[in-house]
Amino acid sequence: MKMAMLPYMSADMKDMELNFGGRKVPYVLVRKNVKNINARIKDDGIVYVSANPFVPKAQVEAFLLSKADFILHALDQNAARMHAPRKAYFTEEELKAFITAYCEKVYPYYAGRGVPFPEIRFRKMVSRWGSCHTGRHILTFSTNLLYAPEECVEYVVLHEFSHFFAANHSAAFYAELEKVCPLYKERRKKLKEIHIR
Ligand SMILES: [Zn+2]
Repeated sequence: MKMAMLPYMSADMKDMELNFGGRKVPYVLVRKNVKNINARIKDDGIVYVSANPFVPKAQVEAFLLSKADFILHALDQNAARMHAPRKAYFTEEELKAFITAYCEKVYPYYAGRGVPFPEIRFRKMVSRWGSCHTGRHILTFSTNLLYAPEECVEYVVLHEFSHFFAANHSAAFYAELEKVCPLYKERRKKLKEIHIR
């Protein structure tokens, strides 16, 4: 199944419902100029389907039915994830203090390599843990990191600092990261197990 980002074109969106062998699944049909029928389950647990205006609804529903196992499984997983209890390792204030202190702790290494002390910002981000604006020297961290243990938060700080040397996730970037975080693969794996919402 092709996964695609769908634009919010409310005029072309229609709420539909499909019966998967007795289980009713609502979905949103978006009519747009695409070649294939695309379906995607968003974090809100809603199935978004995009199809060309010329594709009849019956064909869209036949496509969805052919993907029933995948869709139902994904919906169940999503529901379980949304209700799973999460362990908080920090309060939001503690997280901000921890990250700020850790940035100051590791900064001398980066100062030695010509990186100005960055502005540190916090924002609730659900699609990523942090970001680095290399040109403006801003590091932004997701407040969702309060669900991550200390060593993973440290990894995110070092990851974002490493972007001052390589903007993308190239081999050169990971070489930089590994210098300061030899266990980065383990940290990253642990972080991936934490679901954010
Ligand atoms: Zn990155």
